[in-house]
Amino acid sequence: MVPMAELDASIIEGMETDHANPHVYSEFVAGDNLSDEIGKVRERGAEAMKQGDYSGAKDFMRQAEELEAGPRIAPHFEDGFECHECGRVKDMVPCLTKGHKLVTEGEYFAGLDTDGRRDELAQNWIVSAYRVDRLVVTSCG
Ligand SMILES: [Zn+2]
Repeated sequence: MVPMAELDASIIEGMETDHANPHVYSEFVAGDNLSDEIGKVRERGAEAMKQGDYSGAKDFMRQAEELEAGPRIAPHFEDGFECHECGRVKDMVPCLTKGHKLVTEGEYFAGLDTDGRRDELAQNWIVSAYRVDRLVVTSCG
């Protein structure tokens, strides 16, 4: 049996001393709002049709088709890194080639409050602990 205080302290120590791995943040990108715009153009087309403006309706429908055929950005998450010099970056290579340091998992974890640490561990890490001759905690993010 492992006392919870010892387990908590081991996890916190393990996380705060991880300076080998850069912290990876994940940012939600809402995507484009073309679906709304296409819907509005189609509504204008339907309204034009009701008014008997068939040419206008045809133009709106063609405009909607052109919008649908164009490039779209679906909602998604983008991963990136935090550089001490540049701030958030998508690609770490330019920073590393300039000798910049990236925020490590340990630095990031040390900056979180208790609730933030709990959320970080619950959402992004698998923590396992076992005892051989001392308590060993491993984290996998
Ligand atoms: Zn940088």
